[in-house]
Amino acid sequence: MQKLADIDSEAAALARQQEGCARRISVLGATGSVGTSTLDLIARHGDAFEIDALTAQTNVAALAELALKHRARLAVIGSTQGYEELKARLAGSGIEAAAGPAALIEAASRPVDCVMAAIVGAAGLRPTFAAARAARRVALANKECLVSAGTVFMSAIKDAGAELLPVDSEHSAVHQSIAGTDPKFIERIVLTGSGGPFRTWSAVEMAAATPEQAARHPNFSMGRKITVDSATLMNKCLELIEAYHLFPVRADQLAVVVHPQQIVHGFVEFADGSVIAQMGTPDMRTPIASSLAWPARMAAPAARLDLVRLGSLTFEAPDERRFPALGLARRTFELGGTAGAVLNAANEVAVEAFLARQIPFPAIAALAGDALETAARQGQVREPTCLDDVIAADEEGRALARGLLRRYS
Ligand code: NDP
Repeated sequence: MQKLADIDSEAAALARQQEGCARRISVLGATGSVGTSTLDLIARHGDAFEIDALTAQTNVAALAELALKHRARLAVIGSTQGYEELKARLAGSGIEAAAGPAALIEAASRPVDCVMAAIVGAAGLRPTFAAARAARRVALANKECLVSAGTVFMSAIKDAGAELLPVDSEHSAVHQSIAGTDPKFIERIVLTGSGGPFRTWSAVEMAAATPEQAARHPNFSMGRKITVDSATLMNKCLELIEAYHLFPVRADQLAVVVHPQQIVHGFVEFADGSVIAQMGTPDMRTPIASSLAWPARMAAPAARLDLVRLGSLTFEAPDERRFPALGLARRTFELGGTAGAVLNAANEVAVEAFLARQIPFPAIAALAGDALETAARQGQVREPTCLDDVIAADEEGRALARGLLRRYS
């Protein structure tokens, strides 16, 4: 299986060659939490970057404002209803406007130096695959792409000769900690997590948790979906699957540790007993900067880490009894094939239902696990050979989850 370390060295040489040139960047999901953090970071670097395409789904006003501010060449709104308004808002600016799913793919297919892939959810699959075929580098925030389509996506990256850099803070930490070490010396990769807003809640308290309570992430301000995933620890489950595809290890070499301060973002244990970690205050602009500048570095405005003032850092084992979503990673590895696509799709349906107050908080993990087992029983978990196989599995996972909703409401 193709892993990140195999793809890295050629692309790193290319990145070194390009150092010092203005780099052309497109941002998919520009209006979201990762997208706006990326543009904020880029704006602090004057002429070092040029923005090519920016995309959003429905938020026309924010997209137009970002396109004008960052002098983008193209702005694309996924929902066709937004086209007239986008065109009107960009009139006279020279910025091209487009709309619809095909235009999103075209925006992702422009030959730029880097695409920031920051669309949320499985909706990011087709555009991110398009970016893998066209861009020199894909900075990947859309973890669902690896969770749902891991082997197919890594092959697409390899076939295109593109470079893949993780944006998720834990995977960025691991990537920086490995930094070219021969994979045979890696013993274990540990992803850290805050434990979410319900880390100290009892199962009974969690049974009555509301969307507003789930939305209060202790350290990060993120999009709605990933914030709920952080509360269930499904986010860590998805991140384990993401790490499995990115890094040259077996599933049993991956672990999660709860670290409420979120200063240590991930660490790697090596055969000589060394443990290398990456630290920093929780601010997505740091891993984003790493994904844009690697193997060089660029300045980012995160608050500086003062370990003396912090005094202590704490670590604890995750409680899979209260957070059963975490254990679904193991089951997904066992089932293999399109299990990740089914799990991810079922989770997206469950999160939407929770946010719409149709199901209680504990039902999110229960429903996702139920859909996964149902798919396995019905022979719907298969080995995917292309993106269309993954999208078919995603649709089956969604249908299964919707069919199960009533059981959990
Ligand atoms: P947000 O919800 O904040 O933003 C999502 C972006 O995707 C928006 O620009 C949105 O446009 C666009 N979008 C939504 N639906 C669609 C669709 N159907 N088709 C095309 N575009 C769409 O998400 P985040 O920035 O929080 O997360 C983005 C990705 O990064 C996710 O995969 C998440 O797991 C990952 N990630 C996020 C982190 C964070 O700190 N937020 C950390 C690590 C990973 P519009 O505004 O118009 O709706």
